[in-house]
Amino acid sequence: MKLNHHHEVKKRPKVVIVGLDAATWTLIRPWIAEGGMPNLAQLMRAGVCGPLQSVLPPITPPAWSSFMTGKNPGKHGVFHFVETERDGYAMNYANGGSRRSPTVWKLLNDAGFSVGTMNIPFTYPPEALDGFQISGLDTPTANSAFVHPPVLKRELVDHFGKINHDVRFLGFMSTDQRRAQVLAEMEKTDRQWAAIALYLLEHHPQDVMMFVFMSIDTVQHYFWQYMDRSHFLHDPKAESRFGNAVRKVYERLDAVTGQIIEKLPSDATVLVVSDHGGGPVVDRTVFLNRYLHQLGLLHYCEGGTDRRQRRFGLRRIGTGILRGGFSLLRKSLSSRQKNLLAEAFPTLRKKAELAYTSFRNIDWDRTKAYCSEVLASPPSIWINLRGVKPQGIVEPTEQRALTDFIIEKLNELKDPRTGKPIIARVYRRDEIFHGPFSDEGADLILDWWSEDSLFSTQPSFTKDKRKPPVMIRDHRPSEDSEWGGTHRLHGILIGRGPALKIAVEIENAKLVDIAPTLLYLLGVPVPEDMDGKVLTNALRSDFLAVHKLQAGDASGISETRRSSGYTEEESTKVEERLRALGYLD
Ligand SMILES: [Zn+2]
Repeated sequence: MKLNHHHEVKKRPKVVIVGLDAATWTLIRPWIAEGGMPNLAQLMRAGVCGPLQSVLPPITPPAWSSFMTGKNPGKHGVFHFVETERDGYAMNYANGGSRRSPTVWKLLNDAGFSVGTMNIPFTYPPEALDGFQISGLDTPTANSAFVHPPVLKRELVDHFGKINHDVRFLGFMSTDQRRAQVLAEMEKTDRQWAAIALYLLEHHPQDVMMFVFMSIDTVQHYFWQYMDRSHFLHDPKAESRFGNAVRKVYERLDAVTGQIIEKLPSDATVLVVSDHGGGPVVDRTVFLNRYLHQLGLLHYCEGGTDRRQRRFGLRRIGTGILRGGFSLLRKSLSSRQKNLLAEAFPTLRKKAELAYTSFRNIDWDRTKAYCSEVLASPPSIWINLRGVKPQGIVEPTEQRALTDFIIEKLNELKDPRTGKPIIARVYRRDEIFHGPFSDEGADLILDWWSEDSLFSTQPSFTKDKRKPPVMIRDHRPSEDSEWGGTHRLHGILIGRGPALKIAVEIENAKLVDIAPTLLYLLGVPVPEDMDGKVLTNALRSDFLAVHKLQAGDASGISETRRSSGYTEEESTKVEERLRALGYLD
């Protein structure tokens, strides 16, 4: 442990990264043009900026994991908030323990640099870094061991009280009062993290530091429709109250970024990054399992408990999924994850129950392809492969023709108003993921993040199996907690420092490029198995001329077995809280 004590010389941070989850240029640029966001604007004038391409699909857990490893999800094994069992139909919650590649933090430690990180998603349980690590949104509870070293947690709690990852009432915004409460809670959470970040800079500076703020993501999901007059959920009456909710969060975190920069030596490198962008949700909904059923690829069990089900043990398995689903909630769902799911599902329990019920009615013995509709996104399709899934019926030799057929049929789904295809592109697993864990990803990944390919999915129910697979949602103001915003592929990158160009816009930067660039800036060889590249177009030619690019040995795999790392005690606490909140009977 190398926390600074009074007798030690304090370190001067060399690189400081501010992570603004979901920050997007489509909002920042116009606001800067109006004179807003002064600190990011100043940073852009003093350095480089440009779009930062996320991973596919652009969601938080794989995105930040790829940021930290410089690798695609096939090499680190984090694909989603949940991980689907490769040899089953059930799902488990993932966390930082599911990551199976060394992080750039570990590589920096090995090269002699101390590292301190705060609130990065998917860093629970925290790594035993030389420096510190405070876990992010996969932290189970405030009582969990989410800070390394533990002595730092005691110190922070002494100064700041209980450290809060949660935003209360998120899933329950049925009134303007509740919406206002949620915005106030978000501000409180931001203020606490900002105060902790400034304290850590002052009292525990490290060579490399990173601070992440989550509320841009949250506010975009729930309040986009209030600022966007063309949005199908826009409410003109609520615009005066919540029309500036998103911008307020951006301006607040712009100010926090300014305060962080003020604390730094002038020769420190500063990076501001987001893990993906944001944009409005659109009114097109696709019922994927309903469509697969209509194509003859997915069959439902007729009746609840027929002989066929019992004969093949389906009832037992179906109930197992249902029970398994909720025992997962009981076992591993943290308060923070509950909020994440509340984001995905405004009325979590109802939706989860419905989704599990719909899932339970799938007749696996006659089903070739299915979507795990339990989570709202991302929409992806799995093949019920013989030898892999317990009741797989698709022969490996049949798989290519089957996925060709599904892709062709997905391309035929049209917006009834325009006649244009809804899904612009369907990716095969091997087009997106490569590496030792790539076969843990879904077989087909549907593009829901590109501007010409926007749609949502919802669970399909047996009783509706003959309804059209595409639905256009009603245009009306939001009444409850409801996503008006979702993710886009491109986040942001801004950087300033002695090695970086000045007032230059760069193209083609990717989230996986940050880890190798960070290593290069500090003179550490870049592991040959990182997928990212050093962002040479952001760097001054005189720096590049003097500092040779060094390829290093592969960083490889850190673990071969995934595990969530949640203890029984944490599970019990989580269960108590969920019960109190009405999530469990
Ligand atoms: Zn995110």
